[in-house]
Amino acid sequence: MEEAKEKGVFNEEKACLVVKELRKSFDSGKTRSYKWRISQLEAMAKMIEEREKDIIEAVDKDLSKPQLEAYIAEVSQTKSSCFEAIKALHLWMKPTKVKTAITTYPSSAEIVSEPLGVVLIISTWNFPFLLSLEPVIGAIAAGNAVVLKPSEVAPASSALLADMLTKYLDNSAVRVIEGGAPQTTALLEQKWDKILYTGNARVGRIVMAAATKHLTPVILELGGKCPALVDSNLNLQVAARRLIAGKWACNNGQACISVDYIITLKHFAPTLINALKEELEQFFGKDPMKSKDMSRIVSSSHFSRLLKLLNDDKISDKIVLEGQKDEDQLKIAPTIILDAPDDSLVMQEEIFGPIMPIITVDKIEDGFDIIKSKPKPLAAYLFTNNEDLKKSFVENISSGGMLINDTVLQVVTPGLPFGGVGESGMGSYHGKFSFDEFSHKKGVLYRSFKGDSSMRYPPYTPKKQSL
Ligand code: NAD
Repeated sequence: MEEAKEKGVFNEEKACLVVKELRKSFDSGKTRSYKWRISQLEAMAKMIEEREKDIIEAVDKDLSKPQLEAYIAEVSQTKSSCFEAIKALHLWMKPTKVKTAITTYPSSAEIVSEPLGVVLIISTWNFPFLLSLEPVIGAIAAGNAVVLKPSEVAPASSALLADMLTKYLDNSAVRVIEGGAPQTTALLEQKWDKILYTGNARVGRIVMAAATKHLTPVILELGGKCPALVDSNLNLQVAARRLIAGKWACNNGQACISVDYIITLKHFAPTLINALKEELEQFFGKDPMKSKDMSRIVSSSHFSRLLKLLNDDKISDKIVLEGQKDEDQLKIAPTIILDAPDDSLVMQEEIFGPIMPIITVDKIEDGFDIIKSKPKPLAAYLFTNNEDLKKSFVENISSGGMLINDTVLQVVTPGLPFGGVGESGMGSYHGKFSFDEFSHKKGVLYRSFKGDSSMRYPPYTPKKQSL
């Protein structure tokens, strides 16, 4: 412990100190005021505006994320969440009046949104700014003190987050702690009032187990295999472009809501594959490895993980579009696999990369059984013009969110909650949902001294009992 302290390593002792300092600020009441919340949200909006170039540069270093993709997801989306909170905060903070029962007459009642205290946000690498700042916006809007732990897998983004938040925000109540598993473990030993974790389910279980010790509620933003069910009754070109946008043009498949696999009709599969190939060439050219519009794989360990999926004997004769691989550049070009068996690695694990299995069925409804045989996904997509099929999909498929005839755009729809169900997570955030997740909804009943009926008090006389 002493040695770690000397070297400046973040350990349990330091984690305890950070929480103590933030709790002191929270207990002083400063974070509760509308004025403090707004000042921090405005500072955050200013920070994103002023450091836009640095943000784009950092995600380029970490992921070679194309500039426009980085701008839309990391800058524009985060900024608009900030503006939404600034605009709506007054309304969000207002208590909600509710009806009272005749038995409490005269009285009034309201639900008061109360900040929880000191909260921990553990973030991931694939959208390092959006997935770190969006929950921080919610935590601040709800009046909490907050510690953000960005992902060590995106080191340039993590360092920039630490630098920016230290410079722009009130450090007595908002902190960034950088590091990986050891630092997160030290943080998880502490008592928090809520933890929001984004990442894989293995670590999600570690987070949840640590939280039980202090009875801390958790929001788990996990992943899974997001299916796209593709009917033959559709606009083929638009569908192909949107499927590509939800896979290869979305961080090269490294997104929690990117399309993990497609299910389509047996007779339609060749048509769909041709359309995907044509549109892929339009998007990334004849040699996608040279395209500046395709993100690289984040790390060599994720690159090796994807190679392992591709080297599975069970799919060796099923590859219908074989993407080039370049280990030095950490790049893998779009790869399509037709009818990978269900026990193959690509159908058993979340892919999180540029490999797209296409599974064929005789009837489109058979696709429902495939989706239902797997853990509930974070997102489910359907492409069709058939209104009955749309209705049936919405009614029968359970998933965190859903989008008909497009991909990923559910995440930018301000009124929609974002979160998983079952193994894809618990709790949801974005906009008012973030505010609610980081607030306690305190029910308050107000009575006056009037109307004090003796009916409710002992002695419970026969006369009272007869009424
Ligand atoms: P990651 O490796 O960055 O890990 C996530 C966080 O967990 C990091 O902050 C990391 O430091 C921490 N961590 C890692 N090991 C730990 C340990 N042993 N103990 C404590 N903390 C530890 O990210 P990842 O898991 O590779 O992210 C990819 C996964 O996240 C995919 O499954 C994806 O679907 C999911 N994801 C979900 C969302 C969502 O919003 N639901 C968004 C993005 C990614």
